[in-house]
Amino acid sequence: MATVKDFRNKVKPNWCPGCGDFSIQAAIQRAAANVGLEPHELALITGIGCSGRISGYINAYGFHGVHGRVLPLAQGVKMANRDLTVVASGGDGDGFAIGMGHTIHSIRRNIDMTYIVMDNQIYGLTKGQTSPRSDAGFKTKSTPDGSIEASLNAMETALTAGATFVAQSFSSDLKELTSLIEQGMNHNGFSLINVFSPCVTFNKVNTYDWFKENLTKLSDVEDYDHTDRNKAMQTLMEHNGLVTGLIYHDEETPSYQDKIPGYKSTPLSDDNLELDREKFERLASEFM
Ligand code: SF4
Ligand code: MG
Repeated sequence: MATVKDFRNKVKPNWCPGCGDFSIQAAIQRAAANVGLEPHELALITGIGCSGRISGYINAYGFHGVHGRVLPLAQGVKMANRDLTVVASGGDGDGFAIGMGHTIHSIRRNIDMTYIVMDNQIYGLTKGQTSPRSDAGFKTKSTPDGSIEASLNAMETALTAGATFVAQSFSSDLKELTSLIEQGMNHNGFSLINVFSPCVTFNKVNTYDWFKENLTKLSDVEDYDHTDRNKAMQTLMEHNGLVTGLIYHDEETPSYQDKIPGYKSTPLSDDNLELDREKFERLASEFM
């Protein structure tokens, strides 16, 4: 059985020291090992942004796509090869600005995969501009007098779009984050996990300390029930979206694949798609 070490490769991340993305990398590696995957059974599909580099830092199949198009790519991978566990990942700009249309339609389509948004409430790779997740009044190079736009409440939007699995975490809480990614991987449908991942270089407002002061754990909310969509929406509104934990989980609605007659029982059409550990290791060694 694979351990967390098997999901590490020799590529050194070039994220800034202290970037929240390091913890997300560690959490994906731990979750993959904990759910019993082998590296050749996992595919990481990423968008553009600092976050998008994560597909190169984990020993698994990886595909670094173009900005905002991570979800069509990831859905294509999953539909082509049902045996792969597919994790898509990208930033808040990638998923909630240019890629927002894909996010909404992926949610309602409910293909079995996990989407992790590395949410730093800013564009980091392009050196600090306002994103749809930036708070009103946020000053950046693109909004020197402060943003006059309201921030998108992504979790409320996901619930409204009919999401079957919605969670949120903080990159400082590796234990919770790992557990949520495991639950997302085990969910039969589209799992959206938004992770507050501080950009220590360009976002001087939403820092680690800021999140520690402002986040509420759902486990501390009295009578919270993650199967109750109304309660989930009400709690998000009461806390201005600043909660962590499993927000909503619907285990009854079938996934997209489950609705395709014969999908699971029909053999893969192409032998090349068979998951093969030796083939993966041969390919991986060519890139190391
Ligand atoms: Fe992380 Fe920000 Fe540095 Fe990008 S610019 S690597 S998001 S700290
Ligand atoms: Mg961002």
